[in-house]
Amino acid sequence: MTGRPSYDPQALEPARQQTWQERGDFDAPKPSEGQERVYVKPSSPFTSGNLHMGHVRDYSIGDAYARFRRGRGDAVLFSFGFDAFGLPAELAAIERQEPPAEWVARCGERMLGQMKRLGFSFDYDRVFYSSDEGQYRWSQWLFNTLWARGLIYRDDATVDWCDTCQTTLASIQVEDGRCWRCHNEVRLIRRPTWFLRITPYLEENDRNTQALVDGGKWDDLSLATQRYILGRSDGVELELQGDGGRSLTAFTPHRKFAGLASFVLLSPRHPEVDAWISDAAREELERMRSGGWERSARDARSVPLVAAGASIAGPGGEQLPVAISPLVDARFGPTAALGIPAVDEADRDLAERLESVEVPPAPDDGKERLAPAPVESAREATRYRANDFSISRQRAWGCPIPVILCEQCGPVPVPDQNLPVVLPRDLQPTGEGNPLAERPDFVEVECPKCGGAARRETDTLDCHFDALWLWVPAAVPPEARDEQMFTHPDLQDWLPSERLVAGNDSGGFVFDQRVVTKALRDIGPFAFMEEGEPFAGCLFHEMVIADGRKMSKHLGNVVNPDELVAAHGADTVRLAVLYAAGPAKTLNWSEGAIKFASRFLRTLWNYTHERVAGLEELTHDSEAAADTEHMRDRLRKWCENGLSRITEDTAELQMHKSIRNITRLFERIQDFEKRVVKRRGALDRADAEAQLAALVLLARTLLPFAPHVAEELLVALGVEDSTETLEVWPVAAEIPVEAAAL
Ligand SMILES: [Zn+2]
Ligand SMILES: [Zn+2]
Repeated sequence: MTGRPSYDPQALEPARQQTWQERGDFDAPKPSEGQERVYVKPSSPFTSGNLHMGHVRDYSIGDAYARFRRGRGDAVLFSFGFDAFGLPAELAAIERQEPPAEWVARCGERMLGQMKRLGFSFDYDRVFYSSDEGQYRWSQWLFNTLWARGLIYRDDATVDWCDTCQTTLASIQVEDGRCWRCHNEVRLIRRPTWFLRITPYLEENDRNTQALVDGGKWDDLSLATQRYILGRSDGVELELQGDGGRSLTAFTPHRKFAGLASFVLLSPRHPEVDAWISDAAREELERMRSGGWERSARDARSVPLVAAGASIAGPGGEQLPVAISPLVDARFGPTAALGIPAVDEADRDLAERLESVEVPPAPDDGKERLAPAPVESAREATRYRANDFSISRQRAWGCPIPVILCEQCGPVPVPDQNLPVVLPRDLQPTGEGNPLAERPDFVEVECPKCGGAARRETDTLDCHFDALWLWVPAAVPPEARDEQMFTHPDLQDWLPSERLVAGNDSGGFVFDQRVVTKALRDIGPFAFMEEGEPFAGCLFHEMVIADGRKMSKHLGNVVNPDELVAAHGADTVRLAVLYAAGPAKTLNWSEGAIKFASRFLRTLWNYTHERVAGLEELTHDSEAAADTEHMRDRLRKWCENGLSRITEDTAELQMHKSIRNITRLFERIQDFEKRVVKRRGALDRADAEAQLAALVLLARTLLPFAPHVAEELLVALGVEDSTETLEVWPVAAEIPVEAAAL
């Protein structure tokens, strides 16, 4: 065949992307009456300056799903915001000696360019940065709103401190007890810290997790992270009586053996801990607290442990010594637990360290089964390991906490109408100390309450706090975000998000986003989300590795998406990433997937163009056509079966299966031709028409995965080049079968 265009993704793809942009194909539409609304939420990238293969995986899945839903006639919102505050950007800016704001803007621009070249169908007009003033103003509003409801509080906490650098450190900046920057030993200090209170919503998160299972739109991986973070333990609790009528509620997961308790273990955060501690033990507890119990090992043989010097009557009336250890927190949250060394290995390790506790003989390899010893007065109980966490940092590149510290009034919120508290735009972090605290223009301020001289809080919010609502702004038109970020009517169109697609390390973010959604439901703005769930569906995918190892510069095994796109085109890279592994599996990158995808797309391209060009030469003969009617009918059935499988797999975001079935369908279409030729020597025009109709169907199913080439093929097959005609997911295999069809 002569004159067929060669497959040239480097020319074809940018041209298609230009068309999409000019037509505004991916602008979030105003949903029409009765139209299903689908907000596909991809992960929010850090402004690192480079997409990595994990991003390519994430966005290829989300993009395929967004395009699939658009093709089905749904209103689709597909956009995101950059997670732009935080340590990685601050460290990069320090290294380059430029203001973080400039570094972040440059990184974002570059990453957006990469995304566009990969053909991701985001509504780019809705993309935002968490470090924009218009954005973090609402982070500050959220802080004030949660604080007013008691869901944020200020408390003393232990933090890592470097004397040389004069700063507190985030835990990831402490390596083997030393400062990441100067390698001096760090010490723990206590300082006032802001906490997010999540405990009031743990039970509801727990209950709803079952509803999410029933909804069928959360995959196993994402559900597993929610259960793990929640850390639910079921068991029993009982009331223990101390001296002078004091009582203590103690929990154990060993409901059958509660009667064998030989000590009681209290969390250092237990609200009544002070009532159960002798003066001598109190000093020891203080030492333990300032000695870093927050960074406690979970190992019961080394975890901090203090004998409280008190005892309490056990279920059988015997005196049980009380001890204090953060091991309780790591297992059951800030509660009190029965120590039962006879059945619990960790308790056994602790008992060996407590002088006042007699250690029972080691269990005899199960030869002799322990007789159950339940306690009659015990009642069913549940504990959660998840707990309140600190949200303030002494870092410069973060959202300023909207609080004024007044000696007369204490901490006072900056009134909402005075937000945002602007982070100085020329701030240049050095890595030493907190530059905010050294800026009188930022620090010195009048108290909004008494009018006296006061200081601004110079801690900033951890970027985990920004992330609590990072899924919201995309649902609000950019021009309305200043006034209506949490009240715009479109929020009710798009929320909850139909599907979150994110890496499997996002479980913590998602858990806390679920908490904050419930808080905002109860406070008012999100009252329309009755379940308090931000995501109706969730797909977590595993990471991308190479040579069986995590990609790292050090190992020299980093795969650069830009180089792949330059060598093979975006469609090939996307198809390869999607085909190589199901989302629940780690993707071990290999050239094999690229070779497969490249060969498939080239073969399909050439095959389709040859068949289109060859149609003119074919004639119609009604007798010949009648003789192959049953073959065309079989082709139609193959197409029907293929379509229904591909539709089902794509709806469940199992894109690797979809692509496998697309390649199989292509084989069938080729097979049809071979069979007809074998029978009749050549295709009748009716056969060719049926085959081209099958190729149209095939290209339509390929479109979400390899959109550029699929659209070009559709246009070559005679489909009009417009949004309405190209963006269509087939509902039936419309293959002309009847011999008299022509
Ligand atoms: Zn240091
Ligand atoms: Zn005051």
